[in-house]
Amino acid sequence: MPAVDFSRGIFYLYLLTYLNLFIQLIIYAAMVLNRYIRDLTTLLFPPVCAGCHLPLAHGEEEICTACWYNLPFTNFHKDSANESARQLWGLVPFTGTTSYLYFLECSRVQNIVHHLKYRNRPKIGELLGKKYGKILLNIAPYSDIDCIVPVPLHTTKFRKRGYNQSLYFAKGLSLSMGKPLLENGFRRSRPTPSQTRKNRYQRFENVRESFEVDIPELFSDKHILLVDDVLTTGATIEGCAHALLKDKSVKVCIATLARAV
Ligand SMILES: [Zn+2]
Repeated sequence: MPAVDFSRGIFYLYLLTYLNLFIQLIIYAAMVLNRYIRDLTTLLFPPVCAGCHLPLAHGEEEICTACWYNLPFTNFHKDSANESARQLWGLVPFTGTTSYLYFLECSRVQNIVHHLKYRNRPKIGELLGKKYGKILLNIAPYSDIDCIVPVPLHTTKFRKRGYNQSLYFAKGLSLSMGKPLLENGFRRSRPTPSQTRKNRYQRFENVRESFEVDIPELFSDKHILLVDDVLTTGATIEGCAHALLKDKSVKVCIATLARAV
């Protein structure tokens, strides 16, 4: 029977124990350092409100209390014949259309949308989506939806921006409404050229063939809440709805974060 080298075994056991302790110490030190760096960054570059650019107070998230209080809410969900709905009447056979906020030039909402789209703050969209979802949850026809679909970005724009701002608004709605978010199976197949210097019909023609449903069975028989950031000409929403409604079993209602005034 071969002799067992106990001293070597004990040596390796000690080695492993000390190695384990050493690794845990390194992890703990990294966590402490990370917290100090984060605190220092917050001290040097305090997070600012997306609406007024003033530093956020403790407990405030993305938008300060004063801005929340002064945001121009539309309350469109209470009125089926609201301005956004009337804009799309006769163009899109929707079950309902609403917008959360009014978008005015040089306003808090313009700042918020700018931060959401161009300043790498997609969480703003999620926050606003969560708030609006809590309201829509109890209002028909939005309470009857099966799923939520954001207006897709073309891959070129997605790569440039790094995220789809409408997806984040949709994500917030999905979280508070408890409805699934469908982010695949529907895409923008070509980039939309500039819409300026085009009349209404040319704008619609410009986008109507830009959207494609790749996986029709995902959307078939569904009541979809189609979600976008800002409703301006309505051409993008019209193009999206046109693609989704090619399947006659689909119903669409629309929610945008804001409506241009
Ligand atoms: Zn503010």
